[in-house]
Amino acid sequence: MALIKTKGLVVREIPFNDSDKMLTLLTADYGKISVSAKNSRKSGSRGAYGTQVLTFGEYVLFRGRNSFSINNCDTLANYYDLASDLTRFTHAAHMLDMAQDVAQDPDSCAQVLTLLLYGLQALRKGRNPLLVSSAFALKLMQITGYPPHITSCVCCDTRDMEQIRFSFKKCGFLCEECAKQDEGSVLVDIGEAKAILHVLCAENSGIFNFELSEKVLEAFSNLTFRYIEETMDRNYRKLDFLKEIQRDIHS
Ligand SMILES: [Zn+2]
Repeated sequence: MALIKTKGLVVREIPFNDSDKMLTLLTADYGKISVSAKNSRKSGSRGAYGTQVLTFGEYVLFRGRNSFSINNCDTLANYYDLASDLTRFTHAAHMLDMAQDVAQDPDSCAQVLTLLLYGLQALRKGRNPLLVSSAFALKLMQITGYPPHITSCVCCDTRDMEQIRFSFKKCGFLCEECAKQDEGSVLVDIGEAKAILHVLCAENSGIFNFELSEKVLEAFSNLTFRYIEETMDRNYRKLDFLKEIQRDIHS
């Protein structure tokens, strides 16, 4: 067994045996890893320290042949306070789901981790949770190798577009002519196109530093969530719950 040290964020915890937990950590150096945490289920025990979801810390781990276990942790930050607001917390959980799915590749995991930390900070600062998780989804696709093509029509390469559409099949902007062959494409208004451009060009906290009207935000989030779902072949359900609550409130 070797000892290793890495920074990481706990993105999932699952009870294991009577007193232990299995954690999923997104790490800066070893990709996404499963880590066993002994005696971590007794709150207040030394073993519980640093093992809660949304803890960011510097972890010292035993590395076995096929597994990791915690030796020690220095907590650098935590985002537990996000749990005090249902909407923010649900969007944070949605971001953790998306990040875990795309963080399979150790090379991009460090970037995914950094993006996630900026996203969680943006939620904490009170930025619109839907805007944060939507921008997060799009940036996540870009940094893991699936940036949409937005500098010209993805099919014919023309830059002369009166109306912009988005093709999920071809992953990018589409001119009106080419859109005739792509029934699943959707119309993108100027505000939405600018938001997409902003997210793809911005770095760090700037990624989440913009504003959209409610109507444009709805279209932007529909587009980015559909883009990540179709690209990753996944169906994320965490936000459905919020939509149901909102429907109940308005009815
Ligand atoms: Zn075209």
